[in-house]
Amino acid sequence: MITNIIDQDLISQAKRLIEPVQKIAIVTHTSPDGDAIGSSLGMLHFLRDTGKQHVRVIVPNRFPHFLDWMPLSETILAYDDNTGEADAFLSVADLIIGIDFNQLSRLEKMQDAVKNAPAKKILLDHHLYPENFADVTISYPQISSASEIVFRLICRMGMFKHISKQCAECIYTGMMTDTGNFSYNSNDSEIYNIISELLKKGIDKDAIYRNVNNTHSEDRMRFMGYCLYRKMKVYPEYHTALIAIRGKELFRFNYQPGDAEGFVNMPLSIEGVCFSVFMREDKDKIKISLRSQGDFPANKVAAELFNGGGHLNAAGGESYATLDETIEKFENALPKYF
Ligand code: 5GP
Ligand code: MN
Repeated sequence: MITNIIDQDLISQAKRLIEPVQKIAIVTHTSPDGDAIGSSLGMLHFLRDTGKQHVRVIVPNRFPHFLDWMPLSETILAYDDNTGEADAFLSVADLIIGIDFNQLSRLEKMQDAVKNAPAKKILLDHHLYPENFADVTISYPQISSASEIVFRLICRMGMFKHISKQCAECIYTGMMTDTGNFSYNSNDSEIYNIISELLKKGIDKDAIYRNVNNTHSEDRMRFMGYCLYRKMKVYPEYHTALIAIRGKELFRFNYQPGDAEGFVNMPLSIEGVCFSVFMREDKDKIKISLRSQGDFPANKVAAELFNGGGHLNAAGGESYATLDETIEKFENALPKYF
């Protein structure tokens, strides 16, 4: 059974905003992951299927290769490569649907264009503490993916029949990637009822797994080996592991966006390690991913040390200090958490 989690009042309000309009922009967070792209494209397919012709997905920057098999992914506009076209669409859109982020700042360079757009706004999200910028905010942190929220919203609007096979593929991809192939945040039995409904739409879940997980480059595989063999530092007394990568190391392995996706999880397979951190030197900052298992709060560390946040077991943040300073700050703070 799939129960009604989303408040009926919110469903009605969202429906009232979506039904009458044609020009809709769907936006998601910077460095979009499988759930960001899956939920956004799922919504795009659904809206197109209901006859809306002027719907676009706009993302702040490029998304990884392992998502580019997704139907209609070729229509996605990356804001940093197509700023003029994206600004033009955002400024005339009747409605902007933001998915899979809780604060406008997660849109980075795109945030002002979205904030200042005259369009009505709907936010669909599953992160804690949503910022209050939208006309309708549908935020359920207990739901493991934004894609699942898209599925639930469509069904509750009475539009299940407008979920095509392509739409179902996108929704499934987001549900799968945001739960690590259903290995965390995935004990809610209703997830599997939803998967069952998506399978009835004709999706090939095994092929989706292969498309996402088995389509990487040789460079990426060797980079993974390098990270584990040469770069991983384990702090047994703190049940913690750290991998910190410099820009020149990324260059050496021909790093492409998304290539390090999932690396942060790997040290958690060491017995006794319950906290894992991955730092990557970007052009103007250090991007930090944090993962934990059990009740260790990765989001608390992200917020306190790296101006970030996220979920209990999966969080992120950034640092504008050097990589060495960032590592030092992290190592100095570790004893406080254990
Ligand atoms: P990832 O490590 O995959 O980039 O991010 C994992 C989760 O951490 C995201 O789903 C998001 O909730 C959160 N997150 C990542 N980066 C940031 C950030 O810079 N700021 C905040 N507040 N949360 C972040
Ligand atoms: Mn998500």
